Amino acid sequence: MKLSDIPAHDSVIRRLRDMADADRIPHALLLHGPSGIGKMAAARAFAQYIHCENRTGGDSCGVCPSCLQHQSFNHIDTHYVYPVVKNAKLKRAVSDDYAGEWRELLAESPWMDFDRWVELLGKENAQPLIYVDESAELIRKLHYTARKSQYKVVIMWLPEKMNSECANKLLKLVEEPFPDTKIVMVSDRPSEILPTIFSRTQRVEMMRLSDEVIASQLEASFAVDPVDALSIAHIADGNMVAAVKALKVSKTARVFLDLFISLMRLAYQRKVRDLRDWSAKVAELGRVQSCQFLDYCQRLVRENFIYNLNTPSLNYMNRDEADFSSRFARFINERNVLAIVGELNRARTDIAGNGNAKIILFDLAIRIILLLKG
Ligand SMILES: [Zn+2]
Repeated sequence: MKLSDIPAHDSVIRRLRDMADADRIPHALLLHGPSGIGKMAAARAFAQYIHCENRTGGDSCGVCPSCLQHQSFNHIDTHYVYPVVKNAKLKRAVSDDYAGEWRELLAESPWMDFDRWVELLGKENAQPLIYVDESAELIRKLHYTARKSQYKVVIMWLPEKMNSECANKLLKLVEEPFPDTKIVMVSDRPSEILPTIFSRTQRVEMMRLSDEVIASQLEASFAVDPVDALSIAHIADGNMVAAVKALKVSKTARVFLDLFISLMRLAYQRKVRDLRDWSAKVAELGRVQSCQFLDYCQRLVRENFIYNLNTPSLNYMNRDEADFSSRFARFINERNVLAIVGELNRARTDIAGNGNAKIILFDLAIRIILLLKG
């Protein structure tokens, strides 16, 4: 990760570069700001810049042995510390126990998604922490590991997740650091960091990303249409992780909308054979997604009913849904709306209860034929 790979944050990047160029890197630096804005990416690019053997044009070269090690998350003088979970096998848990999962997280995306990290740790509903053993392990490593660079760099993700025992042990390292060690902390919630640690760091605040930056990232990385990219960016509120999640949801929503449209079209045209294929297609989504789809249908039927009331402020539909409703809403009325929602709900309950989805959905489709005509 090079400094020039970091979108936006120009003044922060300049500050980091100046620190390294002037050899005035603080012992403990804290990059803080809202989540999903690229703080970790900035920390990684900073460490790579510090270690690069051939800095050029105010950036790391990207090709020297040191840069290559950084890019494969294997730099000998860079130590990552991050929250982990204990399990039956690990009575004392430290970051290195999860080094493989950590590399996977970094390789997947430069935007740090905490929910994804919890998933990779393989323990649902866990609250990952930086435990007390971590500080002892870190101090041991800083004492003994071989040194190739001028500085060892410790990148600590989410110091607010340090339990107080760990923070107290680590305090010594922050207060009287090894002369060859620089600590870079990356925090989403600096107010939750133990005050004694917080007060000993040099803080650099990073701001939320603008909607335009988020939109251009979405366009570049996911080939999203510019208009859609900007509307997703608007929902994401400056958080790239939220934007990527919203994008995934909107892709699923598009699949659901298409299935809903075919159900209603085929039912209106009484195409029973095609409806049988439709049932098979929805059933293929699997139980969980079939249920989500039927929830989605219930919402859309209600929205179409409301559409007829000509009160746009009451409607919550995206562009594609609203576009379809302008043609379809007249088929949903006070005589059939409750019955259709009721049938969708019944099908959902039956599928959730392990019924044969294909048969249940086909039965639903036949009932919709009758209700649309009614
Ligand atoms: Zn280099």
